[in-house]
Amino acid sequence: MITCPQCQQQLPDWAKVCQFCHTDVSKIARPVAIAKPKPKSSLDAPNWVWPSYYAIAGWYIISGLLLIWQGVSGATATGASALAAGLMLFVSITGGISITIGIGLILKNPVLRKVCVWFNWLTILVSFRGLVSGIFLSTLIGIGWLWALSNLISMIAAAFMIYLLAETDSATEL
Ligand SMILES: [Zn+2]
Repeated sequence: MITCPQCQQQLPDWAKVCQFCHTDVSKIARPVAIAKPKPKSSLDAPNWVWPSYYAIAGWYIISGLLLIWQGVSGATATGASALAAGLMLFVSITGGISITIGIGLILKNPVLRKVCVWFNWLTILVSFRGLVSGIFLSTLIGIGWLWALSNLISMIAAAFMIYLLAETDSATEL
């Protein structure tokens, strides 16, 4: 809107002549057009993207530490069989990988971010399989839906992390 200098009426931006007093308003400065939204880039990603990103990275580290603790205490438990100890070693290694990815995410390491994307795609695939078998299982035993639900949640979480990694991608290339 512009204001007529003569009668102070509000006139549309495109007015050349005041519709009330017929004063020439073609020389009146027009309001600056509202700036178009900047091209989408991760630097102006929604505010919650980076906090979520760091929260998940932190979660990878915490759950990794828990896995190592679980693995080491399981492997060294008295009476643990060689097979159980081997399995616990595998759990510890998984924990180590989780911590490495978590730290890589915080440091915005491009290689580890890619590893994380693949890891999440793998999670989606495995969880999808779990979801299908959980649905099938729920027709047999009641608890099956819980298995399906937990797989659905891990699928959603993995898809969310892939989204976050894509959303924060170009920021790390700077
Ligand atoms: Zn006027």
